[in-house]
Amino acid sequence: MIVMKFGGSSVADAACMREVGELVTQALPRSPLVVLSAAGKTTDALFAMARQAEAGQLEEALEAKRHLIVHHRGIAFELMADQTTSVLEDAITEISGELELLLRGVALLRELSLRSLDAIASAGERLSTRILATYLGAQWFDARAAMRTDDCFGAARPLGTEMATLVIERLAPYLAPGRAVVTQGYIGATAEGLTTTLGRGGSDYSASLFGSVLGAEDIQIWTDVEGVLTCDPRIVPEARPIGELSFAEAAELAAFGAKVLHPATIQPAVEAGIPVTVRHTRRPQGRFTTITGEVRTGRPVTAIASRGPVTVLTVSSARMLNQSGFLARLFDVFARYGVSVDLIATAEVSVSLTVEADVPLNALLGELGNFATVCVATNRAIVAVVGERLKVTPGITGRCFTALSNLNIEMISFGANEINLSLVVRQEDAPHAIRQLHATLIEGDLP
Ligand code: ASP
Ligand code: MG
Repeated sequence: MIVMKFGGSSVADAACMREVGELVTQALPRSPLVVLSAAGKTTDALFAMARQAEAGQLEEALEAKRHLIVHHRGIAFELMADQTTSVLEDAITEISGELELLLRGVALLRELSLRSLDAIASAGERLSTRILATYLGAQWFDARAAMRTDDCFGAARPLGTEMATLVIERLAPYLAPGRAVVTQGYIGATAEGLTTTLGRGGSDYSASLFGSVLGAEDIQIWTDVEGVLTCDPRIVPEARPIGELSFAEAAELAAFGAKVLHPATIQPAVEAGIPVTVRHTRRPQGRFTTITGEVRTGRPVTAIASRGPVTVLTVSSARMLNQSGFLARLFDVFARYGVSVDLIATAEVSVSLTVEADVPLNALLGELGNFATVCVATNRAIVAVVGERLKVTPGITGRCFTALSNLNIEMISFGANEINLSLVVRQEDAPHAIRQLHATLIEGDLP
């Protein structure tokens, strides 16, 4: 079997759904499990109406809900005209009624818990899957019957063993050649049957989890780009889709700003040894990226990613000289504030590290000031050069630095893993750095 996951932009309207329908129909012999996101910006709209209800603006919230339902009915009508079945009608009416009750409840209490928000947000995927399943005459499956999670609402974690058992018992029997099963990404349920979500953008993760448990031949992530690109195309128009990417490279790229896939998404697929492909819904015959355990392209640099703004903290203390326990003390402060540190470079009496721009800086500085002096540099960016053969290719670091010879590189991190060379530059220099690196290390090296 295969998993076909379609993101919000792939199911945004009737025209998109038709294209999805065609792709699924072609894949019928491969027993596809179709995992959908909510249509277009539906999840954002649901979040917004929930917040309106919380603020006591019930009429506005209900108006937004009506609008959303009309929009979905419109998609259904455009796809099926008067052939929309009563099953679909009933399903939409039920979801609409439930949403209304939830919004009224939130408005009455003026309280929006993550638990309520998950229940509200789940409407998006339930609507999109109901419509597509009816249009295709496919089996609709409620993901909440199989995606068992803990009760960490808003960012629920799937419970591996229970989830796998439920997927095999309840979902797998529907899969068969010649038939599609349509289910929701993003949503799940606790053992008590309370609706949860895996966090924004969680549909890829759902697809990867379902695919791993079911031993899919391929987990296809259908989106609006032709795979993972060598670089952000808004910065480098010459950016191209990467044909083959290793799991490790994909995880690094995602962690360093590439928007395509969340690293956690790929983990279940890595463990199960299943390739993940990233494809363009509107250009199914076009290029795409295959993410597999390892690649053997021999290419030193695969892609350039960047993330910013970040803040660089340089922590110095004379006491660090020949002292043990300094780093422990340092990191204890970050740990206590739940601040995650990205890059680190150490010298004899100082340590430089990067943190996100929105950390509680004053509190951190107060604590660190008790045993060290701290120098702060804001508005910096991390530029990451990623490639499986980076470390074993002679001269590659030299080429990086030559490419950036007219820029001030403030920090370098290399060697923690084999495949990522990270540099810190001023945020305003980042686009230039990325363009230079892309031109030197990637353009021309591409097939
Ligand atoms: N619909 C959800 C969101 O917008 C999940 C997803 O698209 O992956 O975050
Ligand atoms: Mg998405």
